[in-house]
Amino acid sequence: MSGNETRLQAIYQITNREPISISPTEPLKAIWGCDVFSLSTMEENLSKSAFKAINKTAHTGEPLDSATADIVAAAMKDWAMAKGAKYFSHIFYPLTNITAEKHDGFIITNPDGSSITEFTGSLLIKGEPDGSSFPNGSIRMTNAARGYTAWDPTSPAYIMHTDNGATLMIPSVFMSWTGESLDKKIPLLRSNKAMNDAAQKVLSLMGETDIATLNSSCGAEQEYFLVDTNFANARPDLLLAGRTLFGAPSAKGQEFDDHYFGAIPPRVQVFMQDFEDQLYRLGIPAKTRHNEVAPGQFELAPYFENANVAADHQQMIMTLLKITAKKHGFMCLLHEKPFAGINGSGKHVNWSVGNSTQGNLLDPGKTPHDNLNFLLFCGAVIRGVHKFGPLLRAVIASAGNDHRLGANEAPPAILSVYLGDQLEKVFQDIKDGKLSVSDHGGEMDLGLSQILNFERDPGDRNRTSPFAFTGNRFEFRAVGSEQSVSGPLVAMNTMLADSLNWIANRLETALANSTQEEAVINVLQELMNEHGNAIFGGDGYSSEWHKMAVEERGLQNIPTTADALPAFREESVQELFSSTGVLSPIELESRFEVYAEQYVLSIEVEAKLVVDMAKTLILPAATRYLSDLSLANASMQDMGIELDSSVAQTIASETNAMIASINELSSALETDGFATTEEHLQFCANTLCKLMLDVRSHADALEAEIADELWPLPKYQEMLFIK
Ligand code: ADP
Ligand code: MG
Repeated sequence: MSGNETRLQAIYQITNREPISISPTEPLKAIWGCDVFSLSTMEENLSKSAFKAINKTAHTGEPLDSATADIVAAAMKDWAMAKGAKYFSHIFYPLTNITAEKHDGFIITNPDGSSITEFTGSLLIKGEPDGSSFPNGSIRMTNAARGYTAWDPTSPAYIMHTDNGATLMIPSVFMSWTGESLDKKIPLLRSNKAMNDAAQKVLSLMGETDIATLNSSCGAEQEYFLVDTNFANARPDLLLAGRTLFGAPSAKGQEFDDHYFGAIPPRVQVFMQDFEDQLYRLGIPAKTRHNEVAPGQFELAPYFENANVAADHQQMIMTLLKITAKKHGFMCLLHEKPFAGINGSGKHVNWSVGNSTQGNLLDPGKTPHDNLNFLLFCGAVIRGVHKFGPLLRAVIASAGNDHRLGANEAPPAILSVYLGDQLEKVFQDIKDGKLSVSDHGGEMDLGLSQILNFERDPGDRNRTSPFAFTGNRFEFRAVGSEQSVSGPLVAMNTMLADSLNWIANRLETALANSTQEEAVINVLQELMNEHGNAIFGGDGYSSEWHKMAVEERGLQNIPTTADALPAFREESVQELFSSTGVLSPIELESRFEVYAEQYVLSIEVEAKLVVDMAKTLILPAATRYLSDLSLANASMQDMGIELDSSVAQTIASETNAMIASINELSSALETDGFATTEEHLQFCANTLCKLMLDVRSHADALEAEIADELWPLPKYQEMLFIK
């Protein structure tokens, strides 16, 4: 095919598409959780004593004795096989953002050729995917290249239905033979424990006696783009990099704001229903769906859940989005910035901590006492964001998210915390010593019940803040759409644990010679004096803030992943993770290495693609058009007509400039021998990214000049608007 034939074909195919028919959706009650080996399913299928043991394990994570493990495994196998599963898989989350799985059959054969099925407790509990090719930093030497998966009984097993049939999926952790974490789940579980341990101390100092285990919760809003596969298949950049590396702006973009919350296109509607039914079968509580700001962009938010389960569900959501979109003729783009000049995608991670006895500790509550607990936990978050801002920036760093952060559509690359007017005033008053303790009829009342009983109107939320209090939780808004939520959750839980430990320490001393109220206020005053600088309620996009944050507040503006990742090597961050037992220095260092490698690889792949596409797709179109123009010019001259040659001149000079940029980029790609990883990262961020943009600027200028019938790549207006 030549010229624009691929594009015309794609448009023809798309305009003749019908929504695929899916079987009529079944009532929610019939499908909710039907593919999950949940506690209630276990209760039905297990003896009383076996259920009691597994129930305890599921709630505490304590190991299961081998006899019970055998019983649970057998019941799980029978349940899964009755649903058509012949295989099982330990599913795990390596340090990339992907989900990994290795499938094993239940089958074993007898010497006489007959077959039986087997699934023992030890097969359930431990798997050995080998996995020597998963990135691990330098943790696993090749002589010990084995990685092990182990069942996480606190996240239920489930059946995944694909075209290949049903598979029993067992959520697992992934570790080296020396027991080091090679995954995103282990630190999440450990961070939850660290947070619980610290919170218990603070709550007992506050006089609470009945304190259930605290858990962090997560509700993650997922944004994504849908592009028709006919277009996506004609764009090597979408296929290999998940974003467009070229593309002149469309005459119409998102300026009318007519897509946000607009009517969902019919084909997308059918896709969403199909996708959500699958989520419901897996017990994933899909709750809201709508169009997003950019044309072709959508959002899905499940109801919040326990952070560990929510993180597993989030991974399933990303997997299922891609698989289901394909079935409906779409490519689902989870990349943070698929189209230049058009809003990118993020993942807002809503996070809170609580338990069954004290409730949500980030909810102001009704009594003065509840409010004291709330203020302490809220203060702990403020301290965490201030002290570990660079870490929070590092856990959301990726090549993709760099295009989004600070681009005036997403939070800036400066970590501050937004509290809302009323709560900000409370903390400011505490800092200024204006909040004095007064005695009302025996009960100390800080007068907070009224102040904190503020309106929880999401409308007045500050959308320019990376980290915002939204009434009963914090919303980390700077997370990338393609990222696992585990990294951010680990950082939040761990910084909270550290702050709560600090608070417990101070509180204990303060309580020795003052009342509880005074002690709390004193501790919070000290906290605010040291960390109040992180609070910011103004416009996070403004240049005044960028200046003030750095110059007056001492906060860091960390624009790229190359600048952000070294935070993992900082002493304070090492100390944070080792003192809380969440990551050993070796585990932390391996994370730095793996994330750095991922960044370098993504930039290099993109740079190679830029060279390849510019040379093999764009250059030929430019030279063909130039030759058309010169032929036309020659024949016009024969007729004695003078044709304006400025178009040809522009194309020639843009083409020459593009060739020069391609050459520069190609030779930059040959550079090696970097002294440090940090240096290599900076080279990618500064040299390669800049040269890619150079090539692109000429290519995009050419797109605006060259005859449409010669342009080989689907254009922005087509990908964004033709559905
Ligand atoms: P918005 O777009 O206004 O931010 P959404 O309804 O799209 O709101 O998403 C809010 C998310 O926050 C949902 O996933 C919701 O379940 C979650 N959420 C609500 N309360 C809590 C809480 N206490 N802890 C964690 N997440 C919560
Ligand atoms: Mg939100």
